[in-house]
Amino acid sequence: MSSTERLAELLADARRAVVFTGAGISTESGIPDFRSPGGVWSKMKPIYFDEFVHDEAKRREAWNRTFNNAAGWTGAKPNAGHLAVAKLVQHGKVAAVITQNIDNLHQDSGVPARQVIELHGNATYATCLECGVRHELAVLKQSFLGRDEIPRCRSCDGLVKTATISFGQAMPPAPMARAEEETLACDLFLVLGSSLVVFPAAGFPLLAKQNGAKLVIINREPTEQDPYADLVIHDGIGATLRAVVPLD
Ligand code: NAD
Repeated sequence: MSSTERLAELLADARRAVVFTGAGISTESGIPDFRSPGGVWSKMKPIYFDEFVHDEAKRREAWNRTFNNAAGWTGAKPNAGHLAVAKLVQHGKVAAVITQNIDNLHQDSGVPARQVIELHGNATYATCLECGVRHELAVLKQSFLGRDEIPRCRSCDGLVKTATISFGQAMPPAPMARAEEETLACDLFLVLGSSLVVFPAAGFPLLAKQNGAKLVIINREPTEQDPYADLVIHDGIGATLRAVVPLD
């Protein structure tokens, strides 16, 4: 049996699957991943959460990067991999998509927002660090570029930051709790495009496996969790999923 036939069989047998995605599902949309050569942190140093909060120059630099889309995280379109995942959700096969990505492409591909669990936040809008109010980037951009104003909250004057989880920032408790619940409720856990080295997110596949779910890893390069998986496919996500999930 080929690996795609085995994947089709595992999907057919699953009653409640969970998809877990990393930067690798978005490379086919033109967004570089983290750890490949040419990845974003080979070009610029990350700005840590504490630096953003305590240093105005770092805040300015962070907003400059955001409005110049320096990391290339926004403005891309979903690819075949995202669309196949959306089909699996639509057919009721996949209950939730747990993602480390911040590019909003699962929602853009048609997965209802309530079924997307974002562990590292979302780069397509901003929130107030004090009161949590949402701010749209287009509005903030006008005053940043036009009047050189570093964004502050319109409601409480607190610091505003893109809704991503920065290095040194605490993981968001509600998505973490939901991700754990979905992981424990699934009978098939499908990893798509993650090197599985960023913890605590990378703990979910093993949790699923220990809890009795089947584990599938589709990733171009080997990961340390490959030995625990029921099926490992070292190939591109789009073509692999398209072979087992008809898009119409
Ligand atoms: P990673 O860069 O560590 O790993 C990505 C993996 O995907 C690599 O092992 C690579 O071999 C594989 N890959 C790349 N393209 C592939 C393809 N087309 N098909 C199959 N496999 C492919 O990414 P990670 O595990 O997500 O962890 C790093 C962090 O990167 C995450 O926390 C995430 O927040 C952040 N990030 C997000 C984006 C995004 O939102 N699109 C982009 C870059 C980084």
